[in-house]
Amino acid sequence: MKDSSWKKKDKVIKEKIVKEKTIKQKIAKTSPGGTKEHSLRDKIFKIKIADLLNETGREDQIVFDHKFSDQLLNLNDEGITWTFVIQSLDTNSLLGTLTDVTARFHEICDSCRASFLRSVDIPLYTARFVFEDEAIKEKELAESEEVVFHIDPKAETINIEDMVVQSIFLNDPFVKRCDACTKRLESVDDEEDLGEFESKGNIIFS
Ligand SMILES: [Zn+2]
Repeated sequence: MKDSSWKKKDKVIKEKIVKEKTIKQKIAKTSPGGTKEHSLRDKIFKIKIADLLNETGREDQIVFDHKFSDQLLNLNDEGITWTFVIQSLDTNSLLGTLTDVTARFHEICDSCRASFLRSVDIPLYTARFVFEDEAIKEKELAESEEVVFHIDPKAETINIEDMVVQSIFLNDPFVKRCDACTKRLESVDDEEDLGEFESKGNIIFS
């Protein structure tokens, strides 16, 4: 009895080792740095703001490079790049400004179904960062067009991921077309415009 149970255990351990080995081999085979690269993707969008709140009028500028968000699935390997300027308005609120948000996305053309890289370039996007109860007041103060995000009061940080993602989503075109299709359709539009213009001359108003 004892002997067989030992054998069993030994067998289980051996099987486990074999399993782990094959998994490791599989990872090595399928990803020449692939999984490694993925896990190294920088998804941190948090900024410490305690010093800023203590010094009204202070302004900090931070350049972000090669950032990735789980909210942006088609993002290419270069990630998102932008410059963020954060300015202290008072002890409760901050003004955040994104400039030159650039990213490229893998897309399927709505016209010819070819895959293409769509470039996004947002020159400017601003939002205010406030503590949560301030935000509630903000809502009562009529619905201003200002974009408002929350300050994490415990960590004294702001997370600008939603702001960056929102700036990109707001820029999304209704129809996504590859360069070739965009050019082709532009020239067709021009011809149509010409046609319309000519035909107008034939309409007789009585
Ligand atoms: Zn196309």
